[in-house]
Amino acid sequence: IEKDILDVNSARIRSLIEELGNLAEIVSIDPYASKDEWIMKVKDVVAIVNRKGKIDKEIILVATNLKIISRTGVGVDETRIDLTEAKNRGIIITYNPGVNSPSVAELTFLLILALYRKLITINDLVRNGRWIEGQRLLGMELYGKTIGIIGLGNIGRRVAKIAKAFEANVIGYDPYIKDTVGVDEIVDLKTLLSRSDVVTIHVPLTKETKGMIGKNELSLMKKNAILINTSRGGIVDEDALYEALKAGNIAGAGLDVLSVEPPLESNPLLKLDNVIVTPHIGGVTIEAFERSVENAIMEVIRFLRG
Ligand code: NAD
Repeated sequence: IEKDILDVNSARIRSLIEELGNLAEIVSIDPYASKDEWIMKVKDVVAIVNRKGKIDKEIILVATNLKIISRTGVGVDETRIDLTEAKNRGIIITYNPGVNSPSVAELTFLLILALYRKLITINDLVRNGRWIEGQRLLGMELYGKTIGIIGLGNIGRRVAKIAKAFEANVIGYDPYIKDTVGVDEIVDLKTLLSRSDVVTIHVPLTKETKGMIGKNELSLMKKNAILINTSRGGIVDEDALYEALKAGNIAGAGLDVLSVEPPLESNPLLKLDNVIVTPHIGGVTIEAFERSVENAIMEVIRFLRG
C-alpha cells in the first residue's frame, strides 16, 4: 500500500487497513521511492493498492506473486500501469469509475456561479478597499436559465439533478443514451448550443470528442452564454475559445482542464477577466479521496477472501 494512503487520518480507512492486516502482511511504499526500493518492496506482494506510483513492466516482472492491482483512481491507463504486461500475467486491475462524480458536479456549479456573480473580480475589489465598486457589479441568476449538458453519464446526470434544484431548464445531448435521464429534453448538439445560457461539458476525451467544441460550435452559442469544461482539455479548441471570448461572442468560460497542463505562461486564456481556471481539481476533495481509498482497499479484502 502506498504510504500516503496508510497515513490518511480517517477512522473508516484505518479500520479497513486493520481488517486487511488480519488477512495479510502490509508493506508500506513511498510512491516516489526509487526504482530499487520499489523492486525490493514488491518482490513478494500479492496485491498493490495504487494511487500515484507507476507500475511499469520491470515492477510487474519482479513481483512474481502479484495477482491484483487495486487503483484508487477513476480510470486505468498506460501512463500508470503497463497494461500489456499486466494482461500477459493475468493480473486483475480494479479502479473506481464515478467515485468523484459529486465533487466534479459541484465544481461545475462553483464555476457557473462564480462567473455569474463575478466572484473573483468582486473579491479582489473588496480586498483592495473598493467595496462600493464591488456592490455596483450586477450578477446574474441561474434560476430560469437554460443549462445545456453535453454528455449525460455519471457527472452529467448529477449536474442535471443539481440544475433542477436551481429551477433551471435542463437540456442534454448524448447520442449514446436511450432515455432522458433527468433532463427536460434531449436535443442535438446544435440546438443545445444555440439554446443554452450555460453549456457544460461532461464527455470523455475520445477521437470523436477531441475538438468537438470549435469555432463553428462556439459561433452557435448566445452572446451572453458561458462555457464550462470540467471534463478534459482537448475537447474544446482553445484558440477558437479565446477568439470567441475576446470578441465577446460568448460571455465567459470556466475551465478545470486545459489542453496542456500545467498551462504555458503564455496561454492567453489566463489573461482574460471573463475566464476562471482551476488546476484540474474536479475530483480533489476529502470525500472523493476517502471514498476511492476505501473502495480500493475493499477490493483487495474481497480478493483475499476469495
Ligand atoms: P461517464 O462515462 O459516466 O459519462 C460520459 C458520457 O459521455 C456517457 O454518457 C457517454 O455516452 C457520453 N458521450 C461519449 N461520447 C459522446 C459524444 N461524442 N457526444 C456526447 N456525449 C458523449 O463519465 P463521467 O464519470 O460522467 O465523467 C465524464 C468525464 O469527466 C470523464 O470522461 C473525465 O474525462 C472527466 N472527469 C474530470 C474530472 C476532473 O477532475 N475535472 C474528474 C473525473 C472525471
